[in-house]
Amino acid sequence: MARKDALLRLHQRLIEKRDSLRKKSGNDDRNWQNSPQTGGDIGDAANHGASRELNTQLAALENRELRQVELALQLIREGRYGKCENCSHSIPIERLRAVPTTILCVSCQSELELTGTLAVDGEVDWGHALDFEGRMNPTEVSLRDIETD
Ligand SMILES: [Zn+2]
Repeated sequence: MARKDALLRLHQRLIEKRDSLRKKSGNDDRNWQNSPQTGGDIGDAANHGASRELNTQLAALENRELRQVELALQLIREGRYGKCENCSHSIPIERLRAVPTTILCVSCQSELELTGTLAVDGEVDWGHALDFEGRMNPTEVSLRDIETD
């Protein structure tokens, strides 16, 4: 598949992911803001309170995921998607398919994993990016670039 087609598909996947994450966080907000006088019963409100801690942790994870997805979409809009944010080398499409929100090439990712830092200044939260990738993609992505253009 041409790289451009693959990127278009990834774009579509990212948009769907973003929409579903946004929808989820919208629902959570409504639950938390529900109070008895809006029609719910007292027991309901108590349940929401008890599980609020867990909800908060889940929401934090989802928010982090949403941030990663939004960053990837922003890079697509700016024409920078698929290029390493650190060294500007092209990221293999296979790696992007495995982790559509990745913003680093394999070698910069390794450097980040080894040193915990990169010599760049930017608004990107590298620690969270790494965390997110580790969670979503525990297996090693092949370094082989499978572009067949
Ligand atoms: Zn790089």
